[in-house]
Amino acid sequence: MKLGLFGGTFDPIHWGHLRSAEEVREAFGLDWLLFIPASMPPHKAKGAATPARDRLKMVRLAIAKNPGLAASSVEIDRPGKSYSIDTLRYFAGRQKKGDALYFILGRDAFEDIGSWKEFRKIFPLCHLIVTSRPGCGAALALRDIPIAARKLFCYDPTTKSFRYKSGTYLHTIKLTDIAISASEIRARVKNGKSIRYLVPAEVEAYIRRKGLYRGAGGA
Ligand code: ATP
Repeated sequence: MKLGLFGGTFDPIHWGHLRSAEEVREAFGLDWLLFIPASMPPHKAKGAATPARDRLKMVRLAIAKNPGLAASSVEIDRPGKSYSIDTLRYFAGRQKKGDALYFILGRDAFEDIGSWKEFRKIFPLCHLIVTSRPGCGAALALRDIPIAARKLFCYDPTTKSFRYKSGTYLHTIKLTDIAISASEIRARVKNGKSIRYLVPAEVEAYIRRKGLYRGAGGA
């Protein structure tokens, strides 16, 4: 089984996230793609203002009709900050022979990977899929890999990806550009503007019903 893990704050989930998930799932033939909302993302200094349970609920509403997508509360259920290495160890420990794990992250997130907890231990556990974002292509050169791990990768021209010494791959994928960001959505709600067609209708209704993003500091 090929399992994709897509972590993020998802505050809130929007069509940019959903289309990314769909394109990655199709391109890499993943059986499942799990959205994993972070409880307290270590790299978002302000912290997520929205309770994790609301963010998880919005993810579940957004993906309800797609049988290839699911959500996991593993980071929310774990006390303390969300570290990717802990999540990857959790899923790697549950794999069966022949299974493969794919960790999906945006090119913007990949740029910071060198500062993540135990980041070198991530590479042998899973394949990485680095995705593009409008204004931020996915393409990587060897110099984009954190210096501490660089010499453990080599470029594989056949697959046009980087191969880690243990046999896992660092792939990149250029996605359809959808210039939506969660911060823009929060700001629009705060300013009383429409978010229709930026998020699924079920998510829009949930935000309205719960009065999310209206208060000070909402953006
Ligand atoms: P914020 O605006 O608060 O930073 P965000 O929209 O970037 O939020 P996150 O939950 O931080 O949302 O994103 C999770 C992952 O989804 C990141 O790896 C990010 O690169 C990717 N992502 C977010 N928005 C898009 C988009 N419009 N297109 C492609 N990838 C996206």
